[in-house]
Amino acid sequence: METNTINRSTTNITQHSYKIFGASPFGDISFIIKHTHLLGSIMMDCGNISYYNNNQVNNVTHLCISHTHMDHFYGFDRIIRSMLISSKKLVIFGPKGIIDNVFYRTQSYTWNLVDSYSFELEIHELNNTGVHKSALLPANKQFQPQPIECNCILKNNNKTAFTLNNGFTLTYEIFDHGIPSVGYRIESPRRVNISETKMMELGLKGGKWVRQLKEAYLDNNPETDITPDYVNDAGGSGSAGSAGSAVSAGSAVSAGDAGDTGGASVPAKSLFHMLQESPSESVTFATDLAPTQENIHKATLLAQNSSILIMEGVFMEEDKEQAHIKKHLTINIAKKIFLDSSASQLYLFHHSPRYEVFKRKLNYCICKGIEDRILTLSRREED
Ligand SMILES: [Zn+2]
Ligand SMILES: [Zn+2]
Repeated sequence: METNTINRSTTNITQHSYKIFGASPFGDISFIIKHTHLLGSIMMDCGNISYYNNNQVNNVTHLCISHTHMDHFYGFDRIIRSMLISSKKLVIFGPKGIIDNVFYRTQSYTWNLVDSYSFELEIHELNNTGVHKSALLPANKQFQPQPIECNCILKNNNKTAFTLNNGFTLTYEIFDHGIPSVGYRIESPRRVNISETKMMELGLKGGKWVRQLKEAYLDNNPETDITPDYVNDAGGSGSAGSAGSAVSAGSAVSAGDAGDTGGASVPAKSLFHMLQESPSESVTFATDLAPTQENIHKATLLAQNSSILIMEGVFMEEDKEQAHIKKHLTINIAKKIFLDSSASQLYLFHHSPRYEVFKRKLNYCICKGIEDRILTLSRREED
């Protein structure tokens, strides 16, 4: 089993290739999500961001806002302050109205000396059917919104998605919290690695053919012609004979005529046996949703097979009336969504402060039945 580490001051979860930082599960909401292959990081909500150092803030490339209740948004000014003299473009996603929310926050400051600044905000307002509105807010225009086109993509399930970087995608769902509250899912791309051992066994060496082979596999093009490079194209490396027979399995090529230069090509499918696929890994973040059947259904779909589900669990069962009144999930409903979605690991947060003096009871309620799949601060404290 992989190691899960959770520190007391900030939540630091290491799971799969993700690292997640955040405030206490009783604190105001913010998480920073990093992945080994993601350039920069993604921030989910910006309530209490005092736990992050400036480097962590400056590395954020995308800010995903669920909604602008104060406990999810009041840290926003520090992000601007940290990035202002950079030449970055911070991409922000949020519910309808987020452009105004951000604009009016910026307008509480004075901007008469920023003509040379190139920092800008790119904001996308999301609704049930896609992108409601997009705008660019450049610092050198005092953050006045300029309309822009959104270059989002459609996934094959007809869901709107955004490409982040390095093949990562972002999808979302709109929940009812009395107001719209957006849940997000980050998905890493499928990756394939070529086996170095198999390459050596076959007398092959790296080259652009490896990338072409991986692309053919990921794009499902088994008939693509690939011309592999051999370690020794003139006279063989001693293993060229075996290379020829193995590489040409299912094809007509032999080692002798598949050298570095002028080598014969083989169908990609005859080389697929050298590849190992790592499945995509995903993190789903969902907070502030009323315990309605529709929300529960949507959240279960959004979190389907996630590697990590980060979800609010505000109230215990004994306070479920409060959950309905305040439009938040109970811990039991959050756990049901987790189980029904077949996500792997669950981190619950946004607990009502009333439970701070009942941490043992709260912890029992969270962990019961799913102890080995739960990531909690309380669990760490008892370790
Ligand atoms: Zn909240
Ligand atoms: Zn809220």
